[in-house]
Amino acid sequence: MKILMVTAEAVPFAKSGGLADMVSALSIALHKAGHDVRIVMPRYYAIDRAKAKKLEGPLGVPLGNQEIWTAVYETVMPGAEGLPVYFIDHEESFGRDGIYGVPGGSDFPDNPARFSVLCNGAFQLCHKIDWIPEIIHAHDWPTALATVLLKFREESRGFAKTAGVFTIHNMGYQGVYPKSFYPLLGVGWEHFLAAGFEDWNRINFLKAGLSSAQMLTTVSPTYAQEICTFEGGFGMDGILRDRGEDLAGILNGVDIEVWNPEKDTYLPKNYTSRTFKVGKAANKAVLQHTMGLDIRDDVPLISMITRLVDQKGIAEVFAPAYGCLYQICADLGVQFVVLGSGEAWCEAEIRNLEGKLPNFRAMLGYNETLSHLIEAGSDMFLMPSRYEPCGLNQMYSLIYGTLPIVRRTGGLADTVKQYNEETREGTGFMFDFLTPKSVFDTVAWGVYTWRNSRLKFATMQSRAIKARQQFGWDIAAGKYLDVYRKALEKKA
Ligand code: ADP
Repeated sequence: MKILMVTAEAVPFAKSGGLADMVSALSIALHKAGHDVRIVMPRYYAIDRAKAKKLEGPLGVPLGNQEIWTAVYETVMPGAEGLPVYFIDHEESFGRDGIYGVPGGSDFPDNPARFSVLCNGAFQLCHKIDWIPEIIHAHDWPTALATVLLKFREESRGFAKTAGVFTIHNMGYQGVYPKSFYPLLGVGWEHFLAAGFEDWNRINFLKAGLSSAQMLTTVSPTYAQEICTFEGGFGMDGILRDRGEDLAGILNGVDIEVWNPEKDTYLPKNYTSRTFKVGKAANKAVLQHTMGLDIRDDVPLISMITRLVDQKGIAEVFAPAYGCLYQICADLGVQFVVLGSGEAWCEAEIRNLEGKLPNFRAMLGYNETLSHLIEAGSDMFLMPSRYEPCGLNQMYSLIYGTLPIVRRTGGLADTVKQYNEETREGTGFMFDFLTPKSVFDTVAWGVYTWRNSRLKFATMQSRAIKARQQFGWDIAAGKYLDVYRKALEKKA
């Protein structure tokens, strides 16, 4: 099958979150299964043109009543010979730092124009290289326009047999902008309602994607149910209930070449489901040393790696006079490590807490190497998300034998199995209601188990490590192929 991924980010070229991992990993898995997959994305400032090949001639892209001139660079996805990645190069739109906005700051106000260049450019590119895909797979609001253009404009321009698939990675980001941008998108006003853009007289890109694509997917089965409810739908639950038959929840896989304690090159010591006790102890000591904590094996080490944003439940952990972190560190005799970046208040409070608590250490910023060491060297991993479309870190934690402490929501509910003290089943510790007390109590439960039921704790660790197979991308890729086939049937 010929599949074009239209995306704002893909590793290793540009990443702001799990979407970038998913697009590349899914593309590689489909490519390995013999499909002709290609990726198109912007050429941001940080992507080195010298490492790619420039396609001959300019690419004219319609933008409102103008045609702008862009260039296209092509490279190959590392580790997947024959999987092309095309970069739309337009200095005015993408020649800046940041994917959606100034790093650590607000979104770029001209995002509708920028992503219109990407989506319109994707179709122009297909014409230029004379390659018409059977599937256009768009991801989140920045590329929702691709499914709209496919439905309302491109059918008569050679894409009559191409079906659109739209994946929701996060319902909380919808791309809502003033109507004044609409003339830049490439679809006439007669489609403003039909394409689903209209949202209280503004443009809502995500809503347009939900209304236009043949098939919709999201990144876990539980999240697929949650977004159809008032609480989880962010205003889109009505549309999603209407389109219930066309919505599939497919759990993201994990790149088990990269996230595998047996061969992870970032780790001081590799380990398996049989050698994890020794292996994790060695990594824990290095982690403690790296973070400036006492090197002790008789204290449980709990960690978090997260964007510091409300979705991740940070208020319940860190908010002054409200969050439970101080109590966890002061009362439970643990060590606690955080790696993350995000909202300024939270970063400031983390620095403040660090000054008060000798057993709490944080690294503010993005650090790939440290994230691997944290997963390997911790005993438990806290992820109290308010909502979690899929979540990767709880899967990494399981694979590394670091038992997750999570709220039962979205992908967390689909991947972690609740510990049962009687039957000894389970792979982690879960709670339902997001309050500082629930977080504290569940952490305390994990700590109690670590201290008093070491055998049961170790049994869970070994079970978690062995669960790796079920997170492989080949399984998810097979499910996406089913969705693509359904999309094509609907289009026929
Ligand atoms: P989201 O996409 O909502 O941020 P996910 O758990 O799906 O959450 O994916 C987050 C990805 O980003 C994971 O690969 C995680 O390890 C990584 N990550 C997040 N923050 C950091 C950080 N500060 N340093 C290193 N990796 C990080």
